[in-house]
Amino acid sequence: MPAVHTVLVVGGGLAGAGAAIHLADHGVAVDLIEIKPDIAAIGSGITLQGNALRELRKLGVWEAVQARGYSFDSLGLRAPNPDGTLLAEIPDVRTGGPDLPATVGMPRPDLARILHDRAGSAGVKIRFGLTVAALAQDASGVDVTFSDGSTGRYDLIVGADGIRSTVRRLLGINPEIRPTGMGIWRAFGPRPASVTRTDLFYGGPSYIAGYCPTSEDTLYAYVVEAAQDRGGLSPAEQLATMRELAAAYHGPWDDVRTTLTDASRINYTLFEAHVLPAPWHRGRVVLIGDAAHSCPPTLAQGGAQALEDAAVLTELLLAAENLDDRVWTEFTDRRCARAATVVEASVQLGQWLLDREQGDVPALIGRIAALVAQPA
Ligand SMILES: Cc1cc2nc3c(=O)[nH]c(=O)nc-3n(C[C@H](O)[C@H](O)[C@H](O)COP(=O)(O)OP(=O)(O)OC[C@H]3O[C@@H](n4cnc5c(N)ncnc54)[C@H](O)[C@@H]3O)c2cc1C
Repeated sequence: MPAVHTVLVVGGGLAGAGAAIHLADHGVAVDLIEIKPDIAAIGSGITLQGNALRELRKLGVWEAVQARGYSFDSLGLRAPNPDGTLLAEIPDVRTGGPDLPATVGMPRPDLARILHDRAGSAGVKIRFGLTVAALAQDASGVDVTFSDGSTGRYDLIVGADGIRSTVRRLLGINPEIRPTGMGIWRAFGPRPASVTRTDLFYGGPSYIAGYCPTSEDTLYAYVVEAAQDRGGLSPAEQLATMRELAAAYHGPWDDVRTTLTDASRINYTLFEAHVLPAPWHRGRVVLIGDAAHSCPPTLAQGGAQALEDAAVLTELLLAAENLDDRVWTEFTDRRCARAATVVEASVQLGQWLLDREQGDVPALIGRIAALVAQPA
């Protein structure tokens, strides 16, 4: 018997969709609410590491992800010189196991669609354009008032509503979200034939420039700079700025740059980080994914950590008879230190660049790969 029979999941990202699917597959009645009116029609790409792919396979969507995404097994390091010289080709650790690729790039909306379709088939009731206005819990359940005035009562609320979580705020938890000092320009566009894996260019006028193929036809490319207020730029100015920053990078970047023509596919985001001290629950409300911890994407682990939270939480809920301290203690033991280590390492990688310090990047990447290769 699972420890819960009715669950409200708030947020339809990787953490929320993952938790909802696992629970619904085992007969739990799951409502999922998502504040956006629909799954975003446009968006950038996402780099999924092996340990994310392992979780997506457990969710029953690996074949669909493989079919829509672009798999690769190595990382290129290139020089920010006029030739874009390939300095090293590093075989990536297959952190999801030998039968999964090291990395898959894919368009975010495609991944969201795959997960939402799977959740719908599992019986999850998904409602868009809705959030939580109030929560009140007692020993046996949580009363919820939704933003449209309707109400519900659940055995458990899963707050998977991202870095600026409303559920977290309703619990009275207000962590400091730290800007890490970097900002990223991202563009989504066509894949030139010369781009067949992620290459990173460290240094030059920006901190990092890179790209990730997301399908046979598409990629996303990015340039990481010192954080600054880019809010006042028009779309055309944003495009011009990214093109100007990218002009310092060559090799396959020369091909990528010629495709940077659509201002509507460029966006700018600041890197931020936070980790909630344990525990991540208050009574019958628990926070997972970016609501509980969030890292800058220097190791591309945020999605994987969100999926791991969902998998571990639901495994424990489905195995327990009661929602008691044993569930929460094991959830804390299995998730908090691992997620915090990933956040710290992701921040450290960026900090070395900000400080222009020669940190041991391969050792750090190797340490995190060894950690996340272990099952969550
Ligand atoms: C620039 C950038 C690039 C990144 N690149 C990568 C990458 O390549 N690989 C990787 O693994 N990770 C990457 N990440 C991190 C990754 O995106 C996150 O860690 C991951 O998406 C977390 O998943 P989540 O489900 O916890 O949160 P989210 O993806 O933020 O999902 C939360 C969901 O909740 C919804 N929501 C928010 N508020 C409410 C509310 N009040 N009520 C209802 N719904 C709500 C949101 O609309 C959203 O759909 C990147 C992050 C950034 C900032």
